[in-house]
This record gives sequence, structure tokens and C-alpha cells, in this order.
Amino acid sequence: MSTKTLGVYIHIPFCRAKCGYCAFVSRPGSREEQQQYVAALCREISAAGGDFAVPVDTVFFGGGTPTILSVAELTVILDTLRSRFVVTSTAEISLEANPGTVDAESLAQLRQAGFNRLSLGVQSFDDRILRAIGRIHCADEARQAVAAARTAGFDNLSLDLMYGLPGQTVDSWRETLRRAVELAPDHISAYGLKLEEGTALAAQVITRQAILPGEAAEEAMYDYLNAYLPRQGFHRYEISNYARPGKECRHNLKYWRYFPYRGFGAAAHSFDGRARFANTEDVSFYCTRQLAGQSAETFRETLPEPDQLAEYAFLALRTTEGLMTGDFRERFGQNFDDIYAGPVAELIRDGLLIRERDGWRLTEKGFKLSNQAYVKFLP
Ligand code: SF4
Repeated sequence: MSTKTLGVYIHIPFCRAKCGYCAFVSRPGSREEQQQYVAALCREISAAGGDFAVPVDTVFFGGGTPTILSVAELTVILDTLRSRFVVTSTAEISLEANPGTVDAESLAQLRQAGFNRLSLGVQSFDDRILRAIGRIHCADEARQAVAAARTAGFDNLSLDLMYGLPGQTVDSWRETLRRAVELAPDHISAYGLKLEEGTALAAQVITRQAILPGEAAEEAMYDYLNAYLPRQGFHRYEISNYARPGKECRHNLKYWRYFPYRGFGAAAHSFDGRARFANTEDVSFYCTRQLAGQSAETFRETLPEPDQLAEYAFLALRTTEGLMTGDFRERFGQNFDDIYAGPVAELIRDGLLIRERDGWRLTEKGFKLSNQAYVKFLP
């Protein structure tokens, strides 16, 4: 992976129903609206250019629920991307899928269309919890989707799981992990629930209609996760991501390694190595602008250098590989150890950071208290 290549993110902002905890830019949409969105998206991709004329070696369709679109629509989007960019023959092409929106036939067609990595939003294998958080699928559908994906030829399969969910116990979480591993995925992402203001779940927690596990239980889930998955052959390569060797998500590694990426679609963000920019989150406005041949960009900033250095540091420290001081010097022409001598000394003293070969990485305690570590790098 190098900075001479580009990652592309495609945002599909539709879902069949809104999950209780979800604060992503996603919502149900009519077929007509979805068709219009696909047309707008293809238009944006076709018109793209400029500094992004470099080979694309990772593509990620995220959402929302990309698989709410038809196979034909997803194929058109991917083909449009291929006609505008040089997508390499070995590119990782990921597709997020909700188990309730795929079947053996659609997965076979998607694999045929060129998608070669599938990320299934399973979240839990406990049906009671899935209902409590408003997922549209049950545990058995997730199991069936994994089997169908394997039959379709997906040899790079990831499962998304969540802990700290309403009604979840440590035992239920252990069982979810056991069942996930039993399905032999190549990659697992496991996120602790972040209760987002304005979500249905946040309101239920306030009125005590939903009860979250306490801090101690959530910590026990986190500890079990980080003891269990490595024993099962999944190495942790980022705070919340675990993979079989060689199955790390190459697209997401670009974010953590501060490499450029280009986003298409409503709410999609881009980074060209210096500037960040993003499209409007308003799906209708996005469509209107794109279909009129106008930009839907509503945000652009170039971070001052001290902020860039800090951002680079805390993104790199999310990975278990850590921060390479040589790479830092190459990118910014400055010596990391000189600039951050103070924060580094404090983090070492507190047991959050250790030296690793040509750089630094967070300790296990550092991962657990990562937010405390990151603020030390802020200008
Ligand atoms: S499927 Fe994902 S994006 Fe859609 S509502 Fe649920 S959590 Fe949000």
C-alpha cells in the first residue's frame, strides 16, 4: 500500500429501517429516491478528476446499507468507477451488507460483478438483543448470509459485532463471539456502543425503557474480546479490528496511515493528503446538485500543520503497528521524538506508550485509555 495509490469510499445513505443506536447518515428511502441517488452518484464519479488520477487499489461501499440497492445498481456504480478511475486488478473491493438484505443469488451476482470483500453487519447472535436495537435480521439470517457468501466465492469476509448493548450480559457477548468464530470469518470488527444524542436508543435509556450494561460489565466484555480473539487466530491490528494474517482491511488502513482517499455520495468525506472536504449530508440536496452538474461539496478545510501532526499521531496510534518515526519524518520533515518529547514522556510514565522498533505504540492499557493518550498530542 502506498501514497501513490488511492482509496475510494462510496456512501449509500439508505437503510430499510433505522436501528435504534444509529447516528450515521442513513434512512429509509423510496425506490424512486434510490434510483435518483444512483444516477447522481454516477454523475459525481464520472465528473471526478484532478489530483486523483492515480490507481485505485481499495474501494469501499459503505452506508447505510449498500445492499438495499439492486445488484444491477451496485454494478453500475462500480462500473462507472472503473470507467473513470484505474481500478487495479488486485484492488480490494469491499461491500457492507446487512444480512437481512442479501441471499445466495444476490451474493453470487455481487461476487461476479467484482466485489471481493464482504462486511456483514451482524452485531449480535442474540435475537433478543437484535430486536432491542432495531436490527432487521435475526441471528440465523446472519449465519445463512455467511454460508451464502462463502458459496458465492467471497474469500474475504468480515463480521461487525457490538458490545455494551441494551440487555447484553457478559455471557451473551461471549456466546456472540463464540458463534462468530465458529463461522470462520477472515476479519472481525468489534465496537463498543457509543450512545449518540438524538437516537431512539438514547431516548429509551433516558426513560429507562432500555438498560445498558454497567461500566464494569462493558469493561469485562472488552477484556474478554481482547483475550479471546487472539487465541482464536485473529490478531488485533487496530483498536477495534481483528484479522487472520493478511486479511486486514486495506481500505481502512489507509485512513489510519494518513493516506489519501476520495469519497463519493452524500456525506462522503475525502482527503487529498492535505485538505479534507465533504459533500452535503442532505440526500435530496446532493441529488439536485449533482443532477444539475453542480458540486455538492459543503465542507473543506486544510488543517494547520500542528493539527496535521496530531491527527497523524493519533490515527497511527490506533493501530497495533503504531507510529513509525521514519515515516513521520518523511512526511512532515520533522522529528517526532523532538516535537512530542513532553507528551511521550508522560505517556511512558503512565504506562500507555512504549517504544517499538522505529517508533511508538500504545500498550494494552494505552488502548483501553486511548482517548487520554490522544489528547496529549493536541496542539
Ligand atoms: S443498518 Fe447500519 S447504517 Fe442502517 S440504520 Fe442500522 S446501523 Fe445505521
